[in-house]
Amino acid sequence: MVALYTLYQGVAFVFGLVIGSFWNVCIARWPEDRSVVAPRSACPACGTPIAAWDNVPVLSWLVLGGRCRACGAPIAPTYPLVELLGGLLAFLAWRRFVPTPADLDVAHVAAALVYFVFVSALVVGAFIDIRHRILPDQVTLAMVPVGLAAGVLLPALGYVGWLDIGWRGAALGALLGGGFFGSAALLGRVFTGVEALGWGDVRLVTAIGAFLGPPGVMVVTFWGTFVQAFLGIVATIVAQRRVYLPFGPTLAAGALAYVYYGDVLVAAWLPMFARAWTP
Ligand SMILES: [Zn+2]
Repeated sequence: MVALYTLYQGVAFVFGLVIGSFWNVCIARWPEDRSVVAPRSACPACGTPIAAWDNVPVLSWLVLGGRCRACGAPIAPTYPLVELLGGLLAFLAWRRFVPTPADLDVAHVAAALVYFVFVSALVVGAFIDIRHRILPDQVTLAMVPVGLAAGVLLPALGYVGWLDIGWRGAALGALLGGGFFGSAALLGRVFTGVEALGWGDVRLVTAIGAFLGPPGVMVVTFWGTFVQAFLGIVATIVAQRRVYLPFGPTLAAGALAYVYYGDVLVAAWLPMFARAWTP
């Protein structure tokens, strides 16, 4: 059982590398409204399709020295880094949702998979928001029903563990996050005329609420708003003009931190929240 558990940790890491490779495809294609299924990946410089053996996560990039085999054009190190991030986050998701060999059952593995889907949306959304200043519906609106369905599915499988928020928690979290950020966006628009909070951000926070429940979405928006304001002030001082930073990456980073270490972080930094929510 223990040996099998150790083996599965390795499987989770390799699975994450492969999914990380798919994240790269989503990051490149969703902002352009292209399909992520077809056609096969091609070199952006020369258009030569990338053969399967040149598309092995991380390894191919290292073997080819970060260059296209056909034309020699450099391939950005963000590709292998995103793949590595996928491996790491899948490994950590396994450790978080299947914490001991005794937890090796369908319910815990399903929880790990469900939250890795959410993590995927957060990572892809953050990268796209940094590059294009948009949050595509695939990583925001589409995640709301997934989170609500998980709130029904995981308890039905008998899942008890970290983030077992149930369908009530998922629905309340989505309402709370969407309601709070939705009204803030409306009020901001009415009173300042500046769209500092976009509808993509509102949709993202709704999805975060559906996956993390009321405590999670409150902690993420509370800290996210502080961090965002701080980053905005620093960026404005450095650039010596008013700078608006995309909010998505900050919210996504906060939600990621909560998925993996929420209980630890809340206990350490927000003890009054921890007391309020510990049964
Ligand atoms: Zn090429």
